[in-house]
Amino acid sequence: MKYIGAHVSASGGVENAPLNANAIGAKAFALFTRNQRQWKSSPLTKKSISLFKERCEEFGYEAKHILPHDSYLINLGHPDPDGLQKSRDAFLDEMQRCEQLGLDRLNFHPGSHLNEISVDDCLARIAESINRTLEQTVGVCAVIENTAGQGTNLGYTFEQIAAIIDRVDDKSRVGVCIDTAHTLAAGYDIKTEQGFTETFRHFDEVIGFSYLRGMHINDSKKDLATRVDRHDSIGKGVMGMTTFQMLMKDTRFDDIPLILETPDESIWAEEISYLYTL
Ligand SMILES: [Zn+2]
Ligand SMILES: [Zn+2]
Repeated sequence: MKYIGAHVSASGGVENAPLNANAIGAKAFALFTRNQRQWKSSPLTKKSISLFKERCEEFGYEAKHILPHDSYLINLGHPDPDGLQKSRDAFLDEMQRCEQLGLDRLNFHPGSHLNEISVDDCLARIAESINRTLEQTVGVCAVIENTAGQGTNLGYTFEQIAAIIDRVDDKSRVGVCIDTAHTLAAGYDIKTEQGFTETFRHFDEVIGFSYLRGMHINDSKKDLATRVDRHDSIGKGVMGMTTFQMLMKDTRFDDIPLILETPDESIWAEEISYLYTL
């Protein structure tokens, strides 16, 4: 069974996210557990935490179908020691928020080398950041999202993601989230049946489906190998419907959160019900 939802607003408190998800007919959802554009956030209140849990139970959202996303400011591969420490502190706080909310996974972008260190050094730093965080937390899996490879962002090839996972000590608490728009922009042609099949065969060989903890279901404004990250609504971008049909028919994508991050939130309910018809 497929669990499709969207990255819903948590404005006014995390407890509003399950309400917003339920309102659009989502069976899964993503959220930010703190302001994604600020370094500091006030701690979650006891009331927010208990309301969040109550509402998830009321609407039938299990932890394995909820995929929180970390702040865009965090760079776990930061070349500079101060920047790296700031990112590690913020990431630990994000993981602890997930623990408090009873969530079991946190989605993040691996990091950027900023042209100051080598790709390999940056990948090693990211893995070390994950190891340090996992040692200080329990029960939450660090979920690496593949990127479009914009600027100096790493994680745009399956090999780079595998290189991070290789260096993580507790393999049971590291996972992967594949974003369809990022995959295409990074150079994997998932627009055709053959390309989709080949891309996920390669994914299974290099990383492995056992690591897949979620998907971001987005169309893309930018085409194959452009290395530019611009999401579009389903059917409105360059992707074509084959990608989404292939995905919906494939049982390897069952029982994980399939999250829309498409730009027009007024049509999320429509997009979700449309995907279910595929
Ligand atoms: Zn993301
Ligand atoms: Zn994404």
